[in-house]
Amino acid sequence: MNKFLIANSLFLLSQIANPEPIFLQLKNQLEKLGFHVMIELPPKRGAYGLLREADKKIWINPVVFDLNIGNQTLIHEAVHAAQVCAGQGKVKLLGLKIKPSNYVRPFFLRYSDVHRQDIEREAYAVQSQPNSFELAVSLLQKYCK
Ligand SMILES: [Zn+2]
Repeated sequence: MNKFLIANSLFLLSQIANPEPIFLQLKNQLEKLGFHVMIELPPKRGAYGLLREADKKIWINPVVFDLNIGNQTLIHEAVHAAQVCAGQGKVKLLGLKIKPSNYVRPFFLRYSDVHRQDIEREAYAVQSQPNSFELAVSLLQKYCK
């Protein structure tokens, strides 16, 4: 039990110091496209990630690395980035055909605004796919030029 806990916290430490290649690769791609990715508390309380359209700033809450959802969170925000590119500065639906998996449904259904719910549905649909990283990369390539 103790051994497991120690091993586990060492793993978390190494993750924080050394984010996974997927995370860094996506962060670099976003930055090449003019988005600023900051590992900081987002201005909206309780958010894991946030994208501000006005200045293309993306916040990633450092807690996501502890929760082991760093990649997922950045992939989610990358979909919003592709939506911003598609709408030339304003989030726009991409019209993706993929369906979100059931476990993420509560996350977008909590948005009461219908447009916002659709926007979030796309981001959650992508992040819940087995090939979410490749999908996010290709959406950025397609919509951000
Ligand atoms: Zn979102």
